[in-house]
Amino acid sequence: MSRWTIARPQSVEGVGLHMGVACRLGFEPAASGSGIRFRRTDRGGMEIPARVDRAVLAERRTQLGEGPEAIHTVEHVLAAVAAQEIDDLVITMDGPEPPILDGSAGPFFDALGAAGVREQAGERDSFTVGETVRMTDGESEYVAEPGRGLDLDVEIVFPHPVIGRQRGEYRVTRDSFARELAGARTFGFVREVDALRAKGLIRGASTRNAVVLDDRGVVDTTLRWPDEFVRHKAMDCVGDLALIGGRLNARVRAIRPSHRGTVLFVRELARVATRS
Ligand SMILES: [Zn+2]
Repeated sequence: MSRWTIARPQSVEGVGLHMGVACRLGFEPAASGSGIRFRRTDRGGMEIPARVDRAVLAERRTQLGEGPEAIHTVEHVLAAVAAQEIDDLVITMDGPEPPILDGSAGPFFDALGAAGVREQAGERDSFTVGETVRMTDGESEYVAEPGRGLDLDVEIVFPHPVIGRQRGEYRVTRDSFARELAGARTFGFVREVDALRAKGLIRGASTRNAVVLDDRGVVDTTLRWPDEFVRHKAMDCVGDLALIGGRLNARVRAIRPSHRGTVLFVRELARVATRS
């Protein structure tokens, strides 16, 4: 199978979810074989490849690199890139974190759709799981089994009247992602706000870019689906799994996934998968 980049540059801008810093994020075509790379234009053009060997375990987000040059909360933009089946891309940023926009992957997915695709020479990178792989990290459990393409089975449990136990199964393709996952927004709980802010997180969060839950229900918004929560977690998994560095062929079951857990699981998958 051939490789794809985008045909034309596109950009989006807005404030980041955790750092609360404004950022303009651009998509630019990239040479065949160069993969998906972030470029900090405010840091002398420093680049970080979107690969699990550059991921740093972080709370509530997936982070690439460390210190002032780190790139925070890459999962939604990477989910959109993976779902659009793009192999080579430069993602420019003039700040530390992609804009959160409406809290979903939808605006990134749509911008990439508007950019169009261009076929290029070379073979896409694929990673195929040949045997069952299991991993547990805290309350997060993962199983990967051999498969063709990516099938996701995600389950979450939150003791909240609007969430409870939700489970969704998705055959991840460009069309199914657009229909079922791209629009699912991030969510958080009012009761956690003070503790997370004290850690320097969710500084950019509001009811305009996240589904906010108080003890009884959803604040200032209407859910896009009753199970928007598990759809969002599945979308997060698509983005984190993309850190393997190519297309993943596997059936993945994730129970209570976290970014930290999924990054650890991808490290294991990268170790055992057959690359072609
Ligand atoms: Zn997310």
